[in-house]
Amino acid sequence: MKTKFIFITGGVLSSLGKGLASSSIGALMESRGLTITLLKFDPYINVDPGTMNPFQHGEVFVTDDGAETDLDLGHYERYTHTKLSQKNNCTTGRIYHSVITKERRGDYLGGTVQVIPHITDEIKRTIMELADDVDVVITEVGGTVGDIESLPFLEAIRQFKVDVGRENVCYIHLTLVPYIKTAGELKTKPTQHSVKGLSEIGIQPDILLCRTDRLLPPEIKAKIALFCNVEQDAVITAKDVETIYEVPIVFHQEGLDEKIIELLHMWTKAPNLSMWEEIVQKIKNPLDEVYIAVVGKYVNLRDSYKSLNEALAHGGLANECLVNLEHVDSEEIERNGIGDDISRADGILVPGGFGQRGIEGKIEVIRYAREHRVPFFGICLGMQLAVTEYVRNVAGLERAHSAEFDPDTPDPVIYLMKEWTNYQKETVEQRHEGSDKGGTMRLGAYPCHLLEGSFAYEAYKEEDISERHRHRYEFNTRYRELLTNKGMRISGLSPDNELVEIIEIPDHPWFLGCQFHPEFKSRPWSPHPLFREFIGASLNAKRSGG
Ligand code: GLN
Repeated sequence: MKTKFIFITGGVLSSLGKGLASSSIGALMESRGLTITLLKFDPYINVDPGTMNPFQHGEVFVTDDGAETDLDLGHYERYTHTKLSQKNNCTTGRIYHSVITKERRGDYLGGTVQVIPHITDEIKRTIMELADDVDVVITEVGGTVGDIESLPFLEAIRQFKVDVGRENVCYIHLTLVPYIKTAGELKTKPTQHSVKGLSEIGIQPDILLCRTDRLLPPEIKAKIALFCNVEQDAVITAKDVETIYEVPIVFHQEGLDEKIIELLHMWTKAPNLSMWEEIVQKIKNPLDEVYIAVVGKYVNLRDSYKSLNEALAHGGLANECLVNLEHVDSEEIERNGIGDDISRADGILVPGGFGQRGIEGKIEVIRYAREHRVPFFGICLGMQLAVTEYVRNVAGLERAHSAEFDPDTPDPVIYLMKEWTNYQKETVEQRHEGSDKGGTMRLGAYPCHLLEGSFAYEAYKEEDISERHRHRYEFNTRYRELLTNKGMRISGLSPDNELVEIIEIPDHPWFLGCQFHPEFKSRPWSPHPLFREFIGASLNAKRSGG
């Protein structure tokens, strides 16, 4: 079968859920037995979001090949079985970077390099590069129609239809149909304007996804169809839902996948959504609930811990329980000590993070979890601080710290490894305090060997695993012996035994810290083993009144 292309654009305003819509369309295509991949274009100039503040841009999602990507790629991986890489996220910065590199090399010798055709060609090449092994390439264009920045991307996807033939391309536009209380009416004008904006640049949408809080009645659909020049059954209600995993189901009920395959002249198997129905059924009917305190810094912005929040919910799914999350600001703990939001928690989690703020508060909370035998899960920075806490308070080296936060500490238990094996590039790399910020991170999937009988092994039930990393500092091997003598267990190591990947306290109901980010690999249909076990342990703690 010839590869088909779906393009998803957004109108009216941001945050309508374009990423979830794209992911759900991916899920629907897979439910019909098609193979797919997803691509996200981000119109900003940064080459990737790696250096961006999570307050501004939300979580940085990491793929197996070590790409630092937009958080929408996290949704893509949670909703579909596609394997994503650097090729699946592309920014304006990356496009220009590659065009300018070619220009300097002399590839365009004699020509004037311009947005059209050089930039648009590069954009189209990026899409085409993904088309080889799949039935459908789903491309989401970031931003909102009307933005100056996204124009070259829209122009490129307009040209795309001419290049590959109209029967191979489907344009889907996500828009808003607000209900105005004072008028008691659903309003179609924002949608009309948005589609007009899109038509002006030459794109006539085939399908409209109308975000709304209620089902659109037939007369509203007819009105939108008439004014926006689409078929009435191509006006799809994208109603607010209780859980995000319901989106594929409601889209299907609205006939979205049927319409897509009709427009793209495809024949597929009948859709099978039983997996999604089961997930939603479980989410809506939990048998119990737990309360988890997540102690971090970016507490005001849920987007900065997107994958983490989802992985915790998946851990709940595996235990058929609802996970109530409270994000606790660790600076608050520094000011006022351990409060009620911590002491009533069934489990405590310290996630990854960068920067000095709130570090001592996190260490304080880890001490509390260790001493009060509350199930504890430390991720990346959370693991590093668990090690610091243990060295300080159990091994008695009071001034121990991570060299990231105290470069002059006499006991740098977490440090910059001068030389390390980069399994991604199969090279040995050098690193020092003055190294480039971008180049020195340990990024992407690394192998890890587990110790039999440990919490980690009990979770994975496998000796060899692979998990994704995004950090600069490491456990200082100099302290391994001291820590193990004092009762800490090292349960995960790199194949060369140099890098400590998992630590545990065996004499505790469940205390585990890992140097990697397991949340990136959790799926609703396949909850991550560590999240499953952590929520299970928290549930046990609650049931035993601990
Ligand atoms: N700041 C720490 C480091 O760079 C931890 C990073 C993280 O938690 N992702 O090593």
